[in-house]
Amino acid sequence: MSELFLVPSPIGNLKEVSPRVIEVLNSVDYVACEDTRNTSKLLNLLGLNKRCVSCHEHNENMESDKIISSLLEGKNVAYLSDAGYPCISDPGSILVKKAIENNIKVTPLSGPNAFLNALVGSGIDSSHFLFYGFLDSKESKRESELEKLKYLPYTLIFYEAPHRINDTLKSMEKILGNRKITVARELTKLHEEFIRSDLASLNRGNSTFIGELVIIVDKYNEVEKNDFDDYLPKLELLLKAGYKLKDATSIISLLFNVNKNKLYKRVIKKD
Ligand code: SAM
Repeated sequence: MSELFLVPSPIGNLKEVSPRVIEVLNSVDYVACEDTRNTSKLLNLLGLNKRCVSCHEHNENMESDKIISSLLEGKNVAYLSDAGYPCISDPGSILVKKAIENNIKVTPLSGPNAFLNALVGSGIDSSHFLFYGFLDSKESKRESELEKLKYLPYTLIFYEAPHRINDTLKSMEKILGNRKITVARELTKLHEEFIRSDLASLNRGNSTFIGELVIIVDKYNEVEKNDFDDYLPKLELLLKAGYKLKDATSIISLLFNVNKNKLYKRVIKKD
């Protein structure tokens, strides 16, 4: 039975290539990859001489059909993106979907990934998290994406480019409010660094961020949030529509994960 191997590649440190990765790369009939120059370099460093074909964001639909045909003919293929896991903010998902549709065995190997390193080293709660990947580069779209994430009770994880991070941090503070944040840069490389701070301090600090970056933002935490004023206009609308104060506060509490009693007390100005 032929097999499609999903092979994670180093995110910086070449020593993170596992013996199993080398064994699989050595055994497959050929390698498909996001960028043949990058992957050929890696294969050369590992002393492997394999044919590489390109399958990237812009040709994945067409190229994956060719790869599927060769898998159906009995070939074994490894797929690699430029760094980390294929399919994680990288191409590969179309190929995997087609392989599954064609009953081809899909075997992912374990290995490097930028957001997991960032999360576990961040010091921010890792029990429940949401990996978002890249936010939109346009301010208005980025901020509406953040609006959708604002009330989630999960640690939020983003990839970002160094030339955009200052704008992104400003949008985050504006929409999410001040929260704990860790910027993890150059993971597994010589200049690896974890900047553990909060959004307001980073935005006032004129920091410059160089290299590859992951942003970890603490979850929405209504217990720490003292400011219920955001909800007053919504509450007023419900009161105008005829709801009793108790029912209106219950609705807001359910919709936005806000403490009902604190909101109630805020409205009747007991707090
Ligand atoms: N597939 C990769 C993975 O599994 O992590 C992610 C690829 S995505 C196109 C590239 C982004 O990942 C970068 O812009 C950066 O946000 C993050 N990244 C990759 N390598 C990194 C590193 N060594 N340190 C910090 N972030 C990194």
